[in-house]
Amino acid sequence: MTAVNTATLTPHGGVPREVLVQVSATPGGRSLIAVGPNGASYPELRDRVYAGVTNTGLTWPDRHVHITLTPQGPGPGKGSVQPSADLAVTAAVLAATGHLPSTALNETMFLGEVGLDGAVRPVPDTLALVAAAADRGYPTVMVPAANARHAMLVPGVHVVAVQSLSELVTWATTGRQPALPALHADGASAGEGAAEAVPTFLPGWLSPARFALEVATAGRHHLNLTVTPEVPVPLIGECLRSLLPDLDDRQAVEVSALHAAAGRQVDALIRRPPLQAPGPATSVTTMIGGRRPGVASLAHRGVLLLHNAPDFAPEVLHALRQPLDQQIVQVARARGIMTFPADVQLVATSRPCPCSTAHSRTGGCTAPARRRYSNQMHSIADRLAITVRIDASASGDASVGESSATIAARVVAARAAASERWAQQGHSTNAEVPIDVLRQPALRLPVPATSNLRRLVDVGQVSIRAYHAVLRLAWTVSDLRGAGQPDKEAVDTAVELYLPRGDNH
Ligand SMILES: [Zn+2]
Repeated sequence: MTAVNTATLTPHGGVPREVLVQVSATPGGRSLIAVGPNGASYPELRDRVYAGVTNTGLTWPDRHVHITLTPQGPGPGKGSVQPSADLAVTAAVLAATGHLPSTALNETMFLGEVGLDGAVRPVPDTLALVAAAADRGYPTVMVPAANARHAMLVPGVHVVAVQSLSELVTWATTGRQPALPALHADGASAGEGAAEAVPTFLPGWLSPARFALEVATAGRHHLNLTVTPEVPVPLIGECLRSLLPDLDDRQAVEVSALHAAAGRQVDALIRRPPLQAPGPATSVTTMIGGRRPGVASLAHRGVLLLHNAPDFAPEVLHALRQPLDQQIVQVARARGIMTFPADVQLVATSRPCPCSTAHSRTGGCTAPARRRYSNQMHSIADRLAITVRIDASASGDASVGESSATIAARVVAARAAASERWAQQGHSTNAEVPIDVLRQPALRLPVPATSNLRRLVDVGQVSIRAYHAVLRLAWTVSDLRGAGQPDKEAVDTAVELYLPRGDNH
């Protein structure tokens, strides 16, 4: 009797882990055992599989049935296997005991819990697990019927959705599969990205900051905005977002999976970059997440807007350093570490003065009070590459306003240039390029181009970390101009974005 192999995925600390299943059935007696690495045994899984099969009306043969589970990859908790592995185990048992042909199970990933009555019950995080199956090259995924809608959102994978083991047997023996639910006709017509009001023109008061927003969006550089009290900050968030390109298939699946894992309703792939704008009372757990993804992960591939950033608790701002530096969050929990993606563009706003009145730049609060106020952002301040002051009373020149679509088109072109340049190093936007890449001989800028910037480093106005942040900005300025490499003008423009005139004295 040859062994039958199947595969499943279980969410392991937020990261899908593949588990290989092998089942053999040998004559000479009747027994059923399930074992894993280091001798782990799985009595509950064994009982569910046995009850599910016999209660479906299928005969259990006189055989020694031996189930082996092998979780792939390193890490603690290798012996743990969640109930979502039931379906893969049961399918292999049914093939090994002659109820269905084992060839029918090839190239299929099985996800589902099996009830004692033979029902196939839903499992959490289907979207992320099906995406991981597609990533691993599985053309077909079998899921519980209750999870079909999420599974079907993943492009390029064939979904078979079953309610019971009987439907699994029918599919494997005849090829007939139960009908799938109807999805919304247009993937973009539902879900978060759809009904939003997209600003078609930036408001006049935003036009002095237009270039800074364009550079920030093109390179995904973090923004430090000083805004006067009358500025409608949520509108700035929407304007920024209107300049961002749509998410590609892979990004859309990632973002949708995180929103589904956080308990949000996801009826269609989220195609527009998300915008999250938590309030200053947000806790570390809400921001970073725990068992479920937090706000930082809900802003993955989009914008995280902190209105009045200095008013946030220092530990919340400090907790954002990991996503800003590593594009993930990791949370230690009793059963291990949870890891969620959190690649955000951060926009931090603050008032010109700690009080919320609009007194002039020199009047009002004392210098120490102002310093204390701006110091409250110290843990993230040096991650913010672009500083802009936005004053809604300075109307700006609305007549030269370009449409958001025109600016967005330049952003797309600049991003394409950056992504082509960094593809070999595995990066796509300028903001994420590490220092050692910027220092490579082929990419190092000629000395004359960086003369002003070096002078600012010499006099201590620009730190070494900031020096590289300015270089990344210079690449974006240059990409927006369609130039091959930043020249002196691009670097000097980048310096002004980092240290706006007036602060640069
Ligand atoms: Zn004040």
